[in-house]
Amino acid sequence: MSAYISVMQSSRLSPDVLARLRQAGLRPTRQRLALARLLFDADNRHVTAEQLHGEALAASIRVSLATVYNTLHQFTDAGLLREVVVEPGRSYFDTNVENHHHFFCESSGRLQDIPGELVMVGSLPQPPDGTAIRRVDVIIRVHREGKPEATA
Ligand SMILES: [Zn+2]
Repeated sequence: MSAYISVMQSSRLSPDVLARLRQAGLRPTRQRLALARLLFDADNRHVTAEQLHGEALAASIRVSLATVYNTLHQFTDAGLLREVVVEPGRSYFDTNVENHHHFFCESSGRLQDIPGELVMVGSLPQPPDGTAIRRVDVIIRVHREGKPEATA
C-alpha cells in the first residue's frame, strides 16, 4: 500500500490523471488510475490492449487482460481515448483525441499520426437517412518498399 502511494505521488501528472477521470465521470479506482497513468503520463501514443497489459504487468500492476480491455473501452466511451480499428479484430487506443488521421504501416504494424489539416477530403456521400456525420477518420495504409505484399 505504501509503495503504491509513493508511486502515485512520484508520478508528475497524477493529479491531472485523477482530474481527467473525475471529469469524465469515471470513479478513480486503483486499477483505472494505474492504467490511466501508464496511458497518459507520456506523450501521445497508440497502444493495443495486449501492449498495455504487458506494461501493467511489467510495472507490477496486477490486472487481467479482460480488465484492461474493459477499462480501455470505458475510457474511450468517456472521450479520454479514441479507438482506431486498423483491421477487423485489431484496434489501437489513441491518447490523442484531437482531430487527426493516421498512417498505418502494414509491414511493421505501426500507427503514425497525421495532423488533421494535412488531409483534405474533397467530397463525401450523403450520410444514411436520420444520421449526421460526426467526423471523418482517414487511415492511409503503407508498406515498406521492396517488399511486395503477400496478398497482392
Ligand atoms: Zn493517433
